[in-house]
Amino acid sequence: MKRAFILIALIALSAHAAVQTPSQFLGFEVGADKNLADYKQITSYFRSLAAASPRMQIEDLGKTTLGDTMIMAVISSEANMRNLPRIKAIAKQLSDPRGLSDAQIDGLVREGKSVILVTCNIHSSEIASSQMAMEWAYALATANDPETKKRLDNVVLLLVPSLNPDGETMITDYYRKYLGTRYEGGRLPWLYHHYVGHDNNRDWYMLTQLETKAMSRAVYREWYPQVWVDEHQMGTDGPRMFIPPFADPLDATVNPLIWREANLIGSNMAFRLEQQHKAGLIYGYSFDAYWLGGTRNTGWWKNITGLLLETASARIASPIQIEPSELHGGQKGLVEYKATINHPNPWPGGTWRMRDIMDYERIASDAYLEIASNYREDLLRDISVRAKAAVAWGGSVAYRIPKVQRDWPTAQFMSAILLEHGVEIMQSDNGDYWIPMAQPYSKFIAELLEPQRYPEVRLQPGKEILRPYDVATWTLPMAMGVTVEKVGGGQPPTAVRVTEIKPSTKAVLAKHANDKKPRIAIYNPWGGALDEGWTRWLLDQVGFAPKSLHPQEVKAGLQNYDVFILPDIDKDQIASGRGRAEEGSMRYQDELPPEYRGSLEKEGADVLKKFVENGGTLLAFNAASDYVIETFNVPVRNALARASDFSAPGSLLRVNVNTNHPVTADMPKETAIYVDRAIAFDTTAPGGEMQRWVLMTYPEDSRDILLSGWINGEERLTRKAAAVAMTYGKGRIVLFGFRPQHRGQTHATFPMIFDALYWQ
Ligand SMILES: [Zn+2]
Repeated sequence: MKRAFILIALIALSAHAAVQTPSQFLGFEVGADKNLADYKQITSYFRSLAAASPRMQIEDLGKTTLGDTMIMAVISSEANMRNLPRIKAIAKQLSDPRGLSDAQIDGLVREGKSVILVTCNIHSSEIASSQMAMEWAYALATANDPETKKRLDNVVLLLVPSLNPDGETMITDYYRKYLGTRYEGGRLPWLYHHYVGHDNNRDWYMLTQLETKAMSRAVYREWYPQVWVDEHQMGTDGPRMFIPPFADPLDATVNPLIWREANLIGSNMAFRLEQQHKAGLIYGYSFDAYWLGGTRNTGWWKNITGLLLETASARIASPIQIEPSELHGGQKGLVEYKATINHPNPWPGGTWRMRDIMDYERIASDAYLEIASNYREDLLRDISVRAKAAVAWGGSVAYRIPKVQRDWPTAQFMSAILLEHGVEIMQSDNGDYWIPMAQPYSKFIAELLEPQRYPEVRLQPGKEILRPYDVATWTLPMAMGVTVEKVGGGQPPTAVRVTEIKPSTKAVLAKHANDKKPRIAIYNPWGGALDEGWTRWLLDQVGFAPKSLHPQEVKAGLQNYDVFILPDIDKDQIASGRGRAEEGSMRYQDELPPEYRGSLEKEGADVLKKFVENGGTLLAFNAASDYVIETFNVPVRNALARASDFSAPGSLLRVNVNTNHPVTADMPKETAIYVDRAIAFDTTAPGGEMQRWVLMTYPEDSRDILLSGWINGEERLTRKAAAVAMTYGKGRIVLFGFRPQHRGQTHATFPMIFDALYWQ
């Protein structure tokens, strides 16, 4: 009897073996408590599904930082799958309709299919969407109801199950390792991207990381989707799901059709969720329409409608219990946790699990597909309308990037980034680059090349303005120290289109090419620090091969190093392991397992002092300067230590540079520095045991300080030092009151880092 049953079961299984559900294929219940598919399993499932289904194919987007392969599924009807080259060509033409007649555009709109993108799991601990993606792909590959078939006839869906495969693997490995212990579902002791952790969603205009480059290429140079939805998770104790409309402020140069489409799609998502009794939906909350750096946001300036979804988190795949009294507002758009017009049905509290997150995400994703199907012609026409408007907005203006300038290699580097974004660049006979603004990405170009003025929006008369969500500026010529000129008449007629730009070596690196490379260590606290990752990334890029040291490794001695770098980490975090949580820790600050604990403490501080006294060089970035000031008792004070009215979230500020010092020898007399939670220094004359140099000073007139972004309390900075160098024993200390390598972007101040590494 038993054998017969197994036989029948096997026959039943083999009849459907061609297309299995994710749970059948992986042999465990996907989405159940404490079950996680890792990236290998996810990709193997997607590949098997594509092999079995004529509705789906897999594209390899490229290699990840740690050598994995990032995949994207292309899902549509069988007929569309056979016609993909034509569908792609139409999407491309409509995203750049220059030269097309209205009749031609009409024809393309009728013939074309909506091309829409969904990206999942860029933030690796926000893991539910990577699991949901398998179930959604299965449903689309197998469903035969008329509505699904209609949607697939109208839409080509691009589905990326994880934008950070390396991190997906790290999170699943770590989760499984500590399952059943008190650390189950806790945060990682290191960054979940090899270099940039949570900042992988801050890289979408600079394109420093492999994953960003690969996705960007697929979007802006190959598929030209009309809409992009990026699925995230937020904290555990607020609303259950943020769905656009976005919150204020907005960038007024973005085509308003972008917001109308985002609102249409977002409203349908919330509508379908509410119909299925999903509580806790909110719009107009926290996430603004101004910031350029995030995954889908960059597309707003490139005529693509981008939406962000943020669902409340569980503890990775472990459920959490939230008491009603633990639910909080406390954010822009929901000050107190209660019913408001943008949050009409508050979630009452209870158990919240990964399955809930997947269900919310799935309903929202289907509602997106529904709109992309029903509004196919609108989406296709709208992107052509936006592109045309952007070409007209650009007019006859061009930006010139002159070949004769202080730092041509960096100017080339900046131009190469724009080229990678799909921006059209020309070159004139004399080697200058020209960027004509009569092109579809004109608003993106202006956004990156012109200063930002943060829009001050107040929600009620007399109230405070809304603060920036992240940083407030991204003006590349300033951040990179590149000269760019706006020219009214456009480029010379003989200028030709550039297809490739290979930057030459920076002068500061060429200068040191024959010097012995210093041995560099970077402090790496348990729990990870974004600025450690960015510092390591920069130094890896230029061949320094730095070592990142955990507290225990520092205590073991620094005799094998010439330079020690303290990245931007709060002094308490360095000294005692307590302090501000890094972003991305999901708002719960668990204790890490014992093997991942510890900080510098007195023992590490003594090692550090001895290291400098014996001839080492110590560099401290931004907040870490506070640690050095206290620990080394140097004649420097943080002038902003008690300045509660001062704020400059990610802005470019002007400083004057004393170039008569090895650390500043390759800097201009005046430069922009990127300031985010700045430190400014008061110095006093030291005794005879020490030499010290003020390397950078803020201007005397506070009106001269802000170059791009937003600042409050700038008068606190006048005549204060922004960078200081000093001798200490046989060694040297350099304090930077800012991050000289902010997110891999601030090439203007990179020379100070490189020169400081070689300072003897
Ligand atoms: Zn996120």
